[in-house]
Amino acid sequence: MSSDKSFTLYNTLTRRAEPLVPLEPGHLRFYGCGPTVYSYAHIGNFRSFLTADLILRTAHAIDWKTTYVTNVTDVGHLTEDDFTDPSGEDRMAKALRSKEGERFANVWDLARYYAGVLLDDWRTLNMHEPDVRPRATEHIREQIQAVEQLIERGHAYETEQGIYFSVPSFEAYGKLSGNEAATELEQAVRDVVVDPEKRDARDFALWKKDPTHLMQWHSPWGWGFPGWHIECSVMAQAYLGEEIDLHTGGEDLIFPHHECEIAQAESLSGKPFARHWAHTRFLQVEGEKMSKRFGNSYTVRDLVAPESEGGRGVDPLALRLALMAGQYRKPYNFTFATLRDSIRHVRRFRDAFNRVKKIAAQNPPGKDIVGERLDAIYTRTLDAMLDDLNTPEAIAAALSGVKLINGIGDNLNGASAKKSWTWLNQINSLLGIVFNEHEVNTTLHVPHGVAVGKGFAPTIIPSDLAEKVEALLAERKAARQAKDFARADAIRDELDALDIEVMDTPEGTKWRRKPSV
Ligand SMILES: [Zn+2]
Repeated sequence: MSSDKSFTLYNTLTRRAEPLVPLEPGHLRFYGCGPTVYSYAHIGNFRSFLTADLILRTAHAIDWKTTYVTNVTDVGHLTEDDFTDPSGEDRMAKALRSKEGERFANVWDLARYYAGVLLDDWRTLNMHEPDVRPRATEHIREQIQAVEQLIERGHAYETEQGIYFSVPSFEAYGKLSGNEAATELEQAVRDVVVDPEKRDARDFALWKKDPTHLMQWHSPWGWGFPGWHIECSVMAQAYLGEEIDLHTGGEDLIFPHHECEIAQAESLSGKPFARHWAHTRFLQVEGEKMSKRFGNSYTVRDLVAPESEGGRGVDPLALRLALMAGQYRKPYNFTFATLRDSIRHVRRFRDAFNRVKKIAAQNPPGKDIVGERLDAIYTRTLDAMLDDLNTPEAIAAALSGVKLINGIGDNLNGASAKKSWTWLNQINSLLGIVFNEHEVNTTLHVPHGVAVGKGFAPTIIPSDLAEKVEALLAERKAARQAKDFARADAIRDELDALDIEVMDTPEGTKWRRKPSV
């Protein structure tokens, strides 16, 4: 492995590509903005989550540890903070009143449903589970505390209608977006918020007093609900510390959301918040802006659900590959031609994987003839990812490896097949396009040093936890063989307490960390 390699990523804050340098060497701690769960997330949202997934996988490939936190916004935020939808309406409440909203009992029910959908789609696209997936509604207390501290320190003030962050109190406001005058925000805020007590047009809400809101909590300022920006900076700092290595999100979040997160977090800690910011550019569909109005706004299930259920029956990994076909930092034009190419490519990877697995098991004699070339190709693939996630180059390199394996045809000997199998697992660990780790058991003769454990998302499980789980499973197996079922059950409970789910299948015992939501 290549832990001496450097990982370059464009930093929105410094406006240049620069090495990602974790505060704690070899341990990347990062936060990615998740969606507001008021409907099905579209493929543009997922392209941005995929960037975080690829950062995670690339970090693991150079032997870094990671702590990855991505949130679920399950409270309808104030739309005045989001001028992309300046209708002045709460998105959750609006969704509840819509046609699709009719099947939900209330706004909590709606949020719970779409949060579940998010997790399903997440796994369908073979994205690793984060270490923590905090929900805004489960961290209201921390948000209230943060607002109280901001008031104490003179960065926030109260009016009849709510609590606002005082933008002039934070000198560095605008450093991420360059949007110092923030005229867009002023205008958007003027259009929807009428609060004559606001001291500066740019000041944004930290708490909204509203005893009639569908979601409300008790606070020192009466009943109400938090502003949108406060949830992310509070949850990021709660789980990752005052200073974090990296913060990711879609480009639409640079301003005002991330600018406001910086203002809140740095006013609280007095320290730089995130050292590196990576933003994924917008996705277009067939050269047009994706929009429900144009009928070209696709969700994951629109594309991958079987045709009998109204979908297009696309292989989920092909959708994943298609979303990676353009580098995250460039505007990306998603086309059905690319999707068709991706379907073919993924089929090639999968066929090669199944074939070499079979040949490796039969193990025909002969010396390895592909190892050296495949190693060189893997290095090229990884180097492309380390170069600001250059996915087009990484995919091209990986495809050349499959071509090499398939080119040898049925003459592949056992040693070469094993090497090819190892290589395909490495490629999958890095790019996630050969098989879905949430579905496929990869326990067949795992070679040493290859990051393909036995869980569904093996590489995010800390190795000390994995060792403990493996030891408990071995003990459980022994107990069962000795017909000591009480002990075997007790071990299962112990695993359960570790949030590990155990599944006994015909191919053996599998385990995984339980999903965090
Ligand atoms: Zn956020």
